[in-house]
Order: sequence, then C-alpha cells, then structure tokens
Amino acid sequence: MAKSYDAIIIGSGPAGLTAALYLGRAGQKCVILEKEFPGGYTAKIADIENYPGYEAISGFDLTAIMQKQAEKFGAELVFPVEVVEMELKGEVKRVKTRDEVYEGHVVIIAVGVARKKLKVPGAREFLGKGVSYCATCDGNFFRGRQVAVVGADNEAADEALHLAELASKVTLIPHKKPEIVDSALARLTAKANIEILPVSEVKQVVGDELVTGLKIATDGAERVVALEGVFIALGSTPINDLIVNSGGQADDRGCLLTDRNQKMNIEGVFAAGDCTCGGMQIVTAAGEGAVAGMRSAAVIRRIKTKAAGK
Ligand SMILES: Cc1cc2nc3c(=O)[nH]c(=O)nc-3n(C[C@H](O)[C@H](O)[C@H](O)COP(=O)(O)OP(=O)(O)OC[C@H]3O[C@@H](n4cnc5c(N)ncnc54)[C@H](O)[C@@H]3O)c2cc1C
Repeated sequence: MAKSYDAIIIGSGPAGLTAALYLGRAGQKCVILEKEFPGGYTAKIADIENYPGYEAISGFDLTAIMQKQAEKFGAELVFPVEVVEMELKGEVKRVKTRDEVYEGHVVIIAVGVARKKLKVPGAREFLGKGVSYCATCDGNFFRGRQVAVVGADNEAADEALHLAELASKVTLIPHKKPEIVDSALARLTAKANIEILPVSEVKQVVGDELVTGLKIATDGAERVVALEGVFIALGSTPINDLIVNSGGQADDRGCLLTDRNQKMNIEGVFAAGDCTCGGMQIVTAAGEGAVAGMRSAAVIRRIKTKAAGK
C-alpha cells in the first residue's frame, strides 16, 4: 500500500532539507527520500567559509544541523532509498522507490548534480583502487603519498587544497584553461607541496592492481606522472533523466526549468538547488529550497481547503 504524505521531497542536500523545514513549519507532513546519505554533496565538504552565519563549519556539521531542524518540525528522512519512477501529472503524485510507493499532493525535486566522469582507459577500472571523485571521502587513504587532481575550476582547487594537508605532493592537472578565483589560486601557489601543470590532456590511468601513474600529454609531449592517487574534479552535470521521463522540462544544458517560485511545468511539482543550475552553492540551494517549501505549502493548503469544501 502507498505511503501518504502532503509533500514528497527527493534528495536530502541543503535544498531538500530546507524545503522540508519550511513545509514542516507550515504544518505539512513531508518525507525526504535520499538514495545515499543525509546532507547530499555538502556533507562531504571539509571546510565551508561562505555559508552566512558560520565563519567556518564542516559540511557534515552544517547538514546535520539542517537535518535536525527539519526533523524537529516533523519531516521524515528515509535513506538509503533511490527514487526510480514518478507519476507526476495527476492530482495525486506517485513516487516509486524499489520497494515502496509514496503518494503526495506535491513533489519537490532536489536531486543535485552528478560528477562528470573521466573517460580514458583505466579510469573506470581503477575506481576505488587509486581513482576517486571525492577528496574529503578518500583523501585520508593517501596520507604521505603522491596524488594528482584533474580539473581546472574552483572545485579542483578545493580538492587540491584539501589533499595538500594529507599527501606528500599534489599535482594539479588542468584539462582546460583554469578558471579559479584569485583567493583560491593564492592559497594553491602558497602551498609548497602543490604543483600546477600547464593545460594537459589525460590519456590513461596506469597501474597493475593499484594506480601507479597517469599518462598525460602536454603540448603534444606524452609522459607518465608517477603517483598513487588520481582525484577527478571535472565539474558536474545535472541529473534529469528521471524528471524528464516523467514530463518535467529541462533546458539544453540539462538544467531543470522552473519559474521564480521554483514551480516546474507540471502543476504541484517544484525543483530546487543545483539541479536547476542556480547558483550552484549551498546558500542558493537552501534559498531555492525555502521558496519551494513555502510555495508548495500554499498549494497543499489550497488542495486541502478545496477538499474540505470550504
Ligand atoms: C568539491 C566541492 C566543494 C564545494 N564547496 C562549496 C563551498 O565551499 N560552499 C558552497 O556554498 N558550495 C560548495 N559546493 C557546492 C555545494 O556542494 C552544492 O551547491 C550543494 O550541495 C547543492 O545542494 P543540493 O541540495 O542542490 O544538492 P546535493 O547536495 O547534491 O544533494 C542532492 C541529493 O539528492 C540525492 N539524490 C539524487 N538522485 C536521487 C534519487 N533518484 N533518489 C533519491 N535521492 C536522490 C543525492 O544522493 C544527494 O544526496 C562544493 C561542491 C563541490 C563539488
């Protein structure tokens, strides 16, 4: 039998947790469905210095507070459960995981983005054997070792700075012209154990049982950089298959389309956070989540008032 709620939120990052806080405080019963662990990508970030109200806080601590706040007002968080199918067009929305069906008046999509994969020989084979997509999660395994970060933006800079505290040497390998803010660039260049290479093409992850090197080409000249860990930070791509397959609209970059109230093209369906390609920051994800929570609470109130015949 389907489990019934006023609102179903998909994803427990800052967007989903904030939407749940606003819905809960508005007296609406909501469930958050999360396929991995509470807090979304933010929970993996070691140091956050740009979330207002905190000069510095870890992502784990910040999202634990967000979760506690949402639960205080009645939100239920269910994890790990992956949403695999949705029926969004009717008055009653149905959201399916592998084992359960959830029904609600509104659905808020807060699924974030997926990390772009490195598509070269060895990248998939050595995943978990020296190749990683998360320095905060896996950096500790590389204490005192040589690693590389492949990427060219602030995310790559963050990963390199985090690893520089653990690894003996970090080689930052930009796959395109770097776009790193001045403050992060200054911190990178101040670190004695970070080397920034010129723009280079990654050709292959080399190893036997574990990674032993990375074959790169710089200005056409190929060489193998000896190392034990490769951290990939190529940016992200929106997750939208599930939503588009259910009738939701995305733009040509794959970002979910909403109006200023976070409403999608289907009545009663909202999207918030990185999946809309808004600010791609915690504060903007929380902001969009707040708007989605408020506006969806108003929709639920209207539905309940109509049903009561008032
Ligand atoms: C290396 C790095 C460093 C960063 N540093 C900062 C920083 O210092 N400051 C800052 O403001 N921002 C930073 N960001 C950006 C920040 O992490 C994101 O903007 C923020 O996490 C977006 O929140 P969200 O709620 O939209 O999505 P997410 O946090 O990505 O959460 C989405 C959740 O949805 C879940 N989900 C997806 N699909 C399904 C499904 N089908 N079923 C159930 N659950 C699903 C996912 O498992 C995930 O938990 C950083 C990002 C990176 C990559």
